[in-house]
Order: sequence, then structure tokens, then C-alpha cells
Amino acid sequence: MSDTSYKTILDLVKEFPDERSCHQYLASQRWDTGEIICPHDNCGHNQSYVFADGIRYKCKKCKTLFTAKTDTFMEGSKLSTIKWLLAMYLVMHKKGISSVQLAKDIGVTQKTAWFVLQRVRWALGNEDEEPFEGNIQLDETFVGGKNKNRHANKKVK
Ligand SMILES: [Zn+2]
Repeated sequence: MSDTSYKTILDLVKEFPDERSCHQYLASQRWDTGEIICPHDNCGHNQSYVFADGIRYKCKKCKTLFTAKTDTFMEGSKLSTIKWLLAMYLVMHKKGISSVQLAKDIGVTQKTAWFVLQRVRWALGNEDEEPFEGNIQLDETFVGGKNKNRHANKKVK
């Protein structure tokens, strides 16, 4: 699924009508071999239970709960996942979008939009260039796996 691209906002919204579909997409990007790896420190176990919601996992070894968002820049926010996906889309398509505009576009307060913008730009790692040429490609750049490799003061918590 890593080559999936979304050309319009409508495509995105159709593809991800609910949290479950968003999470399953994030999971497919994050764990692209199909093996769900426990993200908790010093664990990395590859067997877990999946909850009926299709969102939460429980590691069979360390017994901690996690989701596809755990340890990513989306963690710890109450924002629905589709809004994160839309924000990423907008940041990539509207160069230099302001937090005021983003707030209107995804229906959040400007404060939230500012926070989202910071995190999305950080995740893109690239505020000034346009690397995606019109198609949104959500891959491991956004979704997990990389955080641990970052310098300690750049980790997202
Ligand atoms: Zn574990």
C-alpha cells in the first residue's frame, strides 16, 4: 500500500471514513512487512493481540497497549486521525499554509492548528521544499519507526 496516492481531499475522505480505517492504513505503512512490532522501549516483540476495534494492540510479551500512532508525532493528541491525514495533505498541497487557514480547513481551533502544523512540518522534516509533486504519499516518513533514530532533543513526545 506504500504506493497509494491521494490526489484529492475527496479521495482521502472516502478512503478513510473512520478511525479504524485510518489506523489500519497507518499500521500498514508503519509495519509494512505485516509484522506488528511492539514499539515499547526495549521490547520490539513481534506478536500481539489485536483488539476488536482494529486499532489497539496488546503486546504478548510486555503486555502494554499500543496503536499505530504510538511513538509517532501523532501520539498524545486527541485529534481524530482523519484530521491529521487531512492536515498532512494540506501542508503538502498548500505551500506555506497558515495555522489560521488550517484551522478553518479541518475545523479545529487556531491553537490546535498551530500545534498540528508544527508536528506535521517536523515530520516532513522539510518546511521549504515541495517534495511530493501533487500526490500525497503517506509512508514511514510520517508514520513511526523513525522517531527512535532522531536526536534526543528532536524526538516527538
Ligand atoms: Zn512489548
